[in-house]
Amino acid sequence: MLIDLHTHSRASDGTQSPGDVMRSAKAAGLDVVGLTDHDSAAGWDEAAAAARDVGVELVPGMEISTKLYGSGVHLLAYLPDPNYPALVDELTKILAGRTGRLAAMIGQLRDAGVDITEEEVLDQVGGSPAIGRPHIADVLVAKGVVGDRTQAFAEWLNWGRPGYVTRYATRTDAMIAIVTAAGGAAVIAHPWGRGSRHVLDKDTFAELRERGLVGIEVDHQDHDDHDRDDLRRIAEELDLVITGASDYHGTGKVDHDLGCNVTSPAEYERLLARAAENAARARRPVAEVVR
Ligand code: AMP
Ligand code: FE
Ligand code: FE
Ligand code: ZN
Repeated sequence: MLIDLHTHSRASDGTQSPGDVMRSAKAAGLDVVGLTDHDSAAGWDEAAAAARDVGVELVPGMEISTKLYGSGVHLLAYLPDPNYPALVDELTKILAGRTGRLAAMIGQLRDAGVDITEEEVLDQVGGSPAIGRPHIADVLVAKGVVGDRTQAFAEWLNWGRPGYVTRYATRTDAMIAIVTAAGGAAVIAHPWGRGSRHVLDKDTFAELRERGLVGIEVDHQDHDDHDRDDLRRIAEELDLVITGASDYHGTGKVDHDLGCNVTSPAEYERLLARAAENAARARRPVAEVVR
């Protein structure tokens, strides 16, 4: 049984439609796939229809931009009620921050000698509500400024580079509480990947667990074997669910193929059980696994 709980579609910065992600998941031999677009549930309905059609189990989720001690921390939220008011409010602010920084990024790039327009970026964005640096990266690739997204980030878009502009993110602890109250299960995505390693030690995971944190994404391409061992030990000691996933972005991220990391069936069951507990406590209709 192959379970991959972290993927992106064109509802954020993946390169495939939500339906195509489901079809690719089936073709890759996955049994269960989580769709976790950045800060949005916009892909859920299309993905659900395709998942039923091809026969994969879909876990609706999202990857929410949060901030802890000034550092960016990505929070995976599985099966929350997407209409829970506090969640809607925060996602609206986060998405507004994404849209709002576009003009500033374009201005800074222009000052640095790279001319792109808002229209060119919006062409790459398609219908996604979560406008991001990957879309700007795609414009830089299309115009021949760089060869691929990775180079675009390294030379133009990462912190300290000419195009970088900070944006709004909810505090991690507050967002975990919101996701939990929305009946979902919160899991820290790639905790020791880019940018968040130094703010996420065992004591911090323990504090976040008090706010409702359910799990840690241990098996992820941003973590080497040593990191995975250390994170697995921390998760076991704190009784947190251990997940693994590809963080698939279609052709938008190399070395993140569907199923390259997976979650064990036992940990998946624990994750669903914790989500069900939160849903029961929330006393509201929440998202459901599509089977
Ligand atoms: P943003 O959400 O606009 O801050 O952009 C961050 C997103 O860009 C991340 O969630 C990744 O999906 C993607 N990203 C970050 N670094 C890279 C990279 N070096 N190559 C490709 N994609 C990246
Ligand atoms: Fe992304
Ligand atoms: Fe992420
Ligand atoms: Zn991701």
